Amino acid sequence: MRKKWMLSATLLLIGLIGGVYFFSPHPAQFTEYCAFCDPKVLDRQRFYEDDLVVALYTHKPILPGHCLVLPKRHVERFELLTDEEITQIGRVIKKVDQAVTKVFDTSSYLLLQKNGIEVGQSVPHVHVHYIPREKGDSSTFGFLVKMYIANAKGPICADEMRETVEKLKQATNLKNS
Ligand SMILES: [Zn+2]
Repeated sequence: MRKKWMLSATLLLIGLIGGVYFFSPHPAQFTEYCAFCDPKVLDRQRFYEDDLVVALYTHKPILPGHCLVLPKRHVERFELLTDEEITQIGRVIKKVDQAVTKVFDTSSYLLLQKNGIEVGQSVPHVHVHYIPREKGDSSTFGFLVKMYIANAKGPICADEMRETVEKLKQATNLKNS
């Protein structure tokens, strides 16, 4: 009984720290470097692109299938996007959903988009997180723990990235470089 209580308290603490880390204001300032304009990052993580928009597999997935959708143009915030970019980002989110659902057998998903360092934006290039949930997993607490673990664990290995990008490319079956 005592052990169970301690385990619950520890898990709750981990979840709270993870939640606070993810949702609290980010103290860092933006730097000149933009990961989403870096050709090496794009080559490694991109599985879809068109004239306006790119979709990447994130290097630190909270859950399997966690992707990013962003404009090709370097734009810091959502309100600075053109109407065409906003429309195309919406279309690509639907494509990503179809691909991720197929590859990872997921159904529900969370869209998350941050504007400004006060809400935790870490890369100064507008991007939408597409975070799927495994079927049957509706635990908010579990999700917070996974966020914490993903942040603490660091990037996935090169092989896992390559394999996942390849699967997602095949699933989108669209123009890729
Ligand atoms: Zn950029």
